[in-house]
Amino acid sequence: MTHYDYLIIGGGMTATAAVSGIRQQDETGRIGLITAEPEPPYDRPPLSKQLWTGRKTLDAIYHALPSEVEVHVGRTAQQLDPAQKQVLDDRGHRFTYNKLLLATGSSPRRLPFGPDNVIYFRTVKDYRCLRRLAKSHNRFAVIGGGFIGSEIAAALAQQGKQVTLIFPEAGIGSRLFPADLSNFLNDYYRQKGVDVQNESSVSHIAGSRTDLAVTLDDDWVHRVVGVHGVVAGIGVTPNTRLAKAAGLEVGNGICVNEKLQTSNSHIFAAGDVANYPDALLGTHRRVEHEDAANAMGQTAGRIMAGAAETYDYSPMFYSDLFDLGYEAVGELDSRMETVSAWQEPYQKGIIAYHENGRVRGILLWNVWDKVDAARQLIASNRTVSATDLKGYLS
Ligand code: NAP
Repeated sequence: MTHYDYLIIGGGMTATAAVSGIRQQDETGRIGLITAEPEPPYDRPPLSKQLWTGRKTLDAIYHALPSEVEVHVGRTAQQLDPAQKQVLDDRGHRFTYNKLLLATGSSPRRLPFGPDNVIYFRTVKDYRCLRRLAKSHNRFAVIGGGFIGSEIAAALAQQGKQVTLIFPEAGIGSRLFPADLSNFLNDYYRQKGVDVQNESSVSHIAGSRTDLAVTLDDDWVHRVVGVHGVVAGIGVTPNTRLAKAAGLEVGNGICVNEKLQTSNSHIFAAGDVANYPDALLGTHRRVEHEDAANAMGQTAGRIMAGAAETYDYSPMFYSDLFDLGYEAVGELDSRMETVSAWQEPYQKGIIAYHENGRVRGILLWNVWDKVDAARQLIASNRTVSATDLKGYLS
């Protein structure tokens, strides 16, 4: 049995940020961290971005935790007993805690078919595997038109690889972007050499090792694409099993209050897995992005260590798509009413997303250093016009 003042389950960015938050308040409390991954915590975003463009090296993505933090790698927390304040891991070891943080993140959704070597891209192991494959092979299928699909397709194409990008929606990023922008992205990716198969689904993947046949169904027409590797980014599900089994309140994620406490006040949750009250938007939500992981992790750490504060941050997110890039804040859903202002169509502009006539989210397309201004616009809780947005473009 090992006792910690602070026990963290999960070894991602949220966990690392929480260690830093704890140390801002408490220099000596004993911290333990259990992570299922076989290696120490690292930054996830570079795996689909800067590591492919050479702007970052693999060594640079790892976090240097304070040396006294006890990191248990390759271990999975199996049971949580909130009454005894105890966690049992997969090796039968018991940990006790004063305060516990659930930073268990999320796991990739999987196709119900296909061989074992489909890469459900999420971890540094997946990155290494794809990188190795791309060294000696040329043809790849990428399934999913969301964050992973669009970033990995661009990354592989930039390495000179032949990429077929397959997804069921009309356009790349269809869930986020208005139809015109999403359609533009289809054309843009095609110009960059990507074979974009929109409104298309994969019904079968056959073969083994580097000889794979991907069957696409478009309007009842079957087409088979032969590739050396398949990458899938078809969404994630939050890892709530431990919390649920322990009787904590779980909905779309683990429910937390403004202090990031779960329904048990000694247990906190943060990052991808936490369903938290967003102060700016006035709703509960779950956010699967880097900025949320870092900010929520830090705040959870400080609060666990006694800080009298609440989590009132509204995180931003960003992506790079070949030479284009964006930052965004608030709620972006293509089903919402949008107002756009372009300085140059699809190259530089701002889009405001509205619900019931009030701005809820802002997309800054190749517009930089305006995230705080975008947050202020959302806080204004009003309708934003194209003229308003143009003021932020100059
Ligand atoms: P995602 O952004 O939710 O996109 C999933 C995509 O896969 C959607 O286009 C979805 O279509 C499609 N899809 C679902 N089932 C499919 C199927 N059977 N066949 C083909 N396509 C299918 O998720 P993700 O790209 O996997 O990313 C995983 C997580 O990492 C997300 O939480 C994301 O936020 C995070 N991430 C963030 C960034 C960033 O912030 N820049 C970068 C990388 C990853 P439907 O919409 O029709 O379901």
